[in-house]
Amino acid sequence: MNFWPDRKVCEPQLKEMRHIMSRLVMKFGGTSVANIERIRNVAQHVKREVDAGHQVAVVVSAMSGKTNELVAWCREASPLHDAREYDAVVASGETVTAGLLAIALQDIGIQARSWQGWQIPILTSDAHGSARIESIHGDEIVKRFTERKEVAVIAGFQGIHAPTGRITTLGRGGSDTSAVAIAAAIKADRCDIYTDVDGVYTTDPRVVPKARRLERVAFEEMLEMASLGAKVLQVRSVEVAMVHKVKTFVRSSFDDPANPQPGTLICDEEDILEQQVVTGIAFARDEAQITLRRVSDKPGVAAAIFMPLAEANINVDMIIQVVSDDTTTTDLTFTVPAIDFERAKGVLEKARSEIGFASIQGAMDLVKVSAIGIGMRSHAGVAARAFKALAEKGINIRAITTSEIKFSVLIDAAYTELAVRTLHSLYGLDKA
Ligand code: ADP
Ligand code: ASP
Ligand code: MG
Repeated sequence: MNFWPDRKVCEPQLKEMRHIMSRLVMKFGGTSVANIERIRNVAQHVKREVDAGHQVAVVVSAMSGKTNELVAWCREASPLHDAREYDAVVASGETVTAGLLAIALQDIGIQARSWQGWQIPILTSDAHGSARIESIHGDEIVKRFTERKEVAVIAGFQGIHAPTGRITTLGRGGSDTSAVAIAAAIKADRCDIYTDVDGVYTTDPRVVPKARRLERVAFEEMLEMASLGAKVLQVRSVEVAMVHKVKTFVRSSFDDPANPQPGTLICDEEDILEQQVVTGIAFARDEAQITLRRVSDKPGVAAAIFMPLAEANINVDMIIQVVSDDTTTTDLTFTVPAIDFERAKGVLEKARSEIGFASIQGAMDLVKVSAIGIGMRSHAGVAARAFKALAEKGINIRAITTSEIKFSVLIDAAYTELAVRTLHSLYGLDKA
């Protein structure tokens, strides 16, 4: 059921629709549950939906900053800690907020019960620290919706690997994925991701004050924006929403609980009436660049370089190969996450005799700035305009990649804001 339809729908119609019973998942992120007062505010948002007659499952994150603190404690205890114990520690942040929200709801007269990931259960792979959800058994919470009129308050981010019985976590930002996956499992009519901004913007509104809120954004574009750095939604949550057709909104928990705004709907491309060429600009900090100088230019060399990196679980992103003057050797440049920089260099040194190169050079403090838009499919020269605009600002481009609906440039991190703002204006995204 379409709960927050286009603005064209008139107010009496909206009022009418709000009274039709439906099943919702409401997810609240870290800043929305940062302290007891905010948790009380969340309880008011939940109360509004319960009072309207809806069945509600709430998914909560840890209080803001909590997960970072827990991660730091693990590192302090031992830099090379056991991944299973890391999950046991970091999952605890969500356990606390789920219990606290259930208490706050009960305090205002709403039946509520908290659930940890293993209690539902949310079954995952055993990739500790970034486990994938495999299945969710939502029967018990659904039964309680009808039998007890009970709100389920579910700790996000957590799961369990059934064969070992160990707690897992879904990767940073994973509560978004918990929420969308639960919505799919219990066949919810809608999944509302409440956060500290009132929707998905053309770029991070904290970096570009002229960013505009989007009424709608297509799944494919959201997927690219999330994977290219817009952390408003975890990438996997968008994948799950797309595959399971979960109607997902991003909206603000800071709105008046009595008068909430609809936020941004993530939807099919066909449901967007006015498609822009470029919909948004994303950026990812913490990129590092590695250059191998004078690699012998013969078949099998790329495999000799990238296989050991893949085996070490290091994600290689942009790759550029340049034939050098002597034509028998080549320079190969690629990017890895900054966090893997030293490890990647170590792996390559180890494989030096098989690869055969003269030297390794590296650069840190880089950022990848990307422009995303389905309209790029049918428009030529979109990226070329960006290269010109960046050059006019004196920004040097170290690497470029393009695909059907996006292009990315690698630049020095010092130019992040200038580059993002330049592209934002260039493609007409600035608000009036
Ligand atoms: P939560 O704790 O609620 O999960 P996050 O911090 O994970 O919230 O995500 C929300 C943040 O995402 C916003 O505060 C904003 O700074 C950032 N963000 C980055 N890109 C975008 C974008 N395109 N639209 C909206 N927010 C964005
Ligand atoms: N608390 C976890 C994190 O900070 C999960 C989430 O907030 O979505 O990454
Ligand atoms: Mg988040």
